Amino acid sequence: MPAEPHVDDALRFSNINKVFGGVKALKAVEFAVGAGEVHCLAGENGSGKSTLIKIITGVYQPEPGAEMEIFGQSCSHITPTQARKAGIAVIWQDLALFAEMTVAENIAFETLLGNRPRGVSYARLRAVAEAALARLDVEIDLDARLGDLPIAQRQIVAIARALVSDARLIFMDEPTASLTQSETDALLSVVRTLSARGVAVVFVSHRLAEVLEIASRVTVLRDGRLVGVFPTEGMTQSRLTELMTGASFTQEVMARDTGGRPEVLTVDGLSRPGEYSDVSLAIRAGEVLGLTGLIGAGRTELCHTLFGMTRADRGEIRLNGRALRMRSNRDAVAAGIAYVSEDRLVLGLIQPQSIADNTVLAVLRKITGAGGLLSSQKKDATVEHWIAELAVKIGKPGDAVSTLSGGNQQRVVLAKWLATEPKVLILDCPTVGVDVGARAGIFRIVRALADKGLAILLVSDEVPEVYMNADRVLHMAAGRIVADWDPRQTRLQDMEAAVYA
Ligand code: ADP
Ligand code: MG
Repeated sequence: MPAEPHVDDALRFSNINKVFGGVKALKAVEFAVGAGEVHCLAGENGSGKSTLIKIITGVYQPEPGAEMEIFGQSCSHITPTQARKAGIAVIWQDLALFAEMTVAENIAFETLLGNRPRGVSYARLRAVAEAALARLDVEIDLDARLGDLPIAQRQIVAIARALVSDARLIFMDEPTASLTQSETDALLSVVRTLSARGVAVVFVSHRLAEVLEIASRVTVLRDGRLVGVFPTEGMTQSRLTELMTGASFTQEVMARDTGGRPEVLTVDGLSRPGEYSDVSLAIRAGEVLGLTGLIGAGRTELCHTLFGMTRADRGEIRLNGRALRMRSNRDAVAAGIAYVSEDRLVLGLIQPQSIADNTVLAVLRKITGAGGLLSSQKKDATVEHWIAELAVKIGKPGDAVSTLSGGNQQRVVLAKWLATEPKVLILDCPTVGVDVGARAGIFRIVRALADKGLAILLVSDEVPEVYMNADRVLHMAAGRIVADWDPRQTRLQDMEAAVYA
């Protein structure tokens, strides 16, 4: 489909800047969507997509100087309520629905209740919900309890709810991240239906095939800046990748043969009901083992057990051949296992505290002398060593960690764990929220650590990330390991097809 002229803009934003602490998340970004258009917002992790959506929907305020126009009305300040009233809806990843209520109630309750504070009949709710689903050309049991539906259907319910409240512009932030291919197809068809009925959709995704299939135009962000707005007509995936990364993509597969090395962490038949079952794997000295799969496949749950935070019902974990019995993550740290979690900002660091204090957090006991006094000499030496080793860009060690960029914060988390001198390092989605440039830096560090003999488990839902950076890649689905790939002998698109199938 050719890019249509967009005379009637649903919204037009310009000079959007946003600063978080020391991080410039958006730099003079412009964004416009035509009425009824399907518009994609593309960019690598950390390029600023979610931040832009939060500004447009009033969740965050931009820095002064922004110009904002919604359906022809210019405004100086937007709150979430104003955005909703203007006809803008967002389908957040958590969907903000009520699991205990029925489909009909979820779709129609809020809107109808707003009009009639004294309550509405269930029959009326049902009728309104039915009409909304009909507009989307989908059928879902109106009386089903929402919590019993798969995530894909819940998304449709959230979209139907937006229609009931007269949304004319719907934002979807990575809606297909946890969907299978057939669910994704169903969602894309709903998006087409919306557009045909005059509702504009802004669709965030980093799956390029999908972007090119659904949108008429794509806005590309890189590192918080606008790269440009392009018609998808004539655009190729490789050109779009170049626009997103700023480089023609020639990174080599890093995998090497690690088969002959000794196993450091061995997992045998590990099961925990409802989370994962019969998981066996081995990470060898100096090996980067990738673990990928859809969100909800059980990867993080497995990591929690490997780090002593939960216990398996069955199976065994061995470290250098000896069975490990961990009662808590303290036992894991003592045994030589380190874990960099996916929620860096929440769990990994204490934001207001200094870079130095964060770095020594996990080794306080080691650098505490007789009588419980912290040896400041040892502390300074530890901090200095790791800041240099990981090339963390900081002002001074005493600065609050919150002043650092995402990539540098992630390095401080790594430093914190490396100071414990681990044998096994578990990295759970280490690049979430890290900008593009810093990502490559983190993977260089991962490779250098492996070269020093560390056994590394690299977990990621971005298949290219494990494909490029791991020696072997395990695919986890519905709690089980279903494939073991050598990236040198498997094509990226085949891995992606299997993971997103
Ligand atoms: P995307 O959605 O494209 O992955 P984001 O908009 O989430 O990117 O993030 C852009 C940049 O802003 C990243 O460097 C991220 O670390 C930073 N960032 C986003 N939200 C916050 C926040 N609440 N506090 C601090 N930094 C943030
Ligand atoms: Mg995002």
